[in-house]
Amino acid sequence: MMIEHICAEPDIYRIEVPLPNNPLRYLNSYVVRGRDRFLVIDTGFNRPECREALFTGLDSLRVDLARTDLFLTHLHADHTGLVGDFARAGSRIFMHHDDYQYLVDSTDGSTWRYAEEKFMVEGMPPQDIKNQFSNQARKYSPDPSFTVQTVHDGERILLAGTEFQVIHTPGHTKGLCCLYIPDKEIIFTSDHILFDITPNIQYWYHMPDALERYLQSLDKVYDLPVRLALPGHRKGDTSIASRIDALRRHHASRLDEVLQAAAAHPGATAFELAPCLSWSMRGRSWAEFPPTQKWFAMGETLAHIEYLLHHGQLIRREIDGTYRYYTV
Ligand SMILES: [Zn+2]
Ligand SMILES: [Zn+2]
Repeated sequence: MMIEHICAEPDIYRIEVPLPNNPLRYLNSYVVRGRDRFLVIDTGFNRPECREALFTGLDSLRVDLARTDLFLTHLHADHTGLVGDFARAGSRIFMHHDDYQYLVDSTDGSTWRYAEEKFMVEGMPPQDIKNQFSNQARKYSPDPSFTVQTVHDGERILLAGTEFQVIHTPGHTKGLCCLYIPDKEIIFTSDHILFDITPNIQYWYHMPDALERYLQSLDKVYDLPVRLALPGHRKGDTSIASRIDALRRHHASRLDEVLQAAAAHPGATAFELAPCLSWSMRGRSWAEFPPTQKWFAMGETLAHIEYLLHHGQLIRREIDGTYRYYTV
């Protein structure tokens, strides 16, 4: 178990929660110890390895869950999986309404069905869609029967004796929120800004042009005074602006790759375009991608295609129930 003491004022710790068999490797769960209350930011998956690491860490920091505020930065299961343990122990739970609603809507499987139908018309073979039922996000999801206090953009909230500002940064998910401590210029960036991996930007049925929203959300925090940035995965940094520049360049070159692939293969489906993009999968070819990685790659390709459609640089035609793409 790994705990890092990040700073004393406020008293912030990072618990490293392992994510077995996941390329993200671990989740950073942050703990702020106040005089009367505690704050925990994000939890790890709903699986024993995460539960063990998180609660051993919280015990050693003498965190009392009955006097804890749990802030869930966004709906993803690696951040929310263990919320039930907190709810049962009497913690207060904070989250943006949009992501809470998505979790509630997911209980009957409808959000997954939307995605599967979408991927089907985008040319993904039914067998690949079936294979992806092992997806960790689905398997280790939280039980969404918990109540939350919803937060909104710009809101200031006192958690563990420290004043935080909520910054709503849609893109990675519709309801993702960063937490910012204005006095200290510390920002918890969750999966909005990661430093040694690129946040995954997906197609979402309930958020048109997620990539455009994401780029706008990068602009939104670009000029924020930051001395310490604490991300949801991997290591943080002492500034965010240069990382934002790099993320913008990444998406610009991604958009370019999609356009070039569409020009080279007129009438290709999204599923046929996806392997033309460069994926950092340790030298593996597209055919060797595990189903879950193919699923994420499809979602990411679709987010870039949607941006190009929206900006008039690609055209889509429906042929026999399948979408095919052409450059303008
Ligand atoms: Zn995420
Ligand atoms: Zn994450």
